[in-house]
Amino acid sequence: MDIYSCISCGANLFGTNYVKLPCPACGELIYRCKRCRKLANSYRCENCGFTGP
Ligand SMILES: [Zn+2]
Ligand SMILES: [Zn+2]
Repeated sequence: MDIYSCISCGANLFGTNYVKLPCPACGELIYRCKRCRKLANSYRCENCGFTGP
């Protein structure tokens, strides 16, 4: 079972408490918990360094 971490807050992600989205710049998948998504915390793509809301 794969376990991902929220890219914004580092929380473990499991079940349905997260969303994944492709990086707008490079397409790398980014995982975020729904809390961070709701709060619009910023994230940083580890692949290309892109930052976004
Ligand atoms: Zn988070
Ligand atoms: Zn990227």
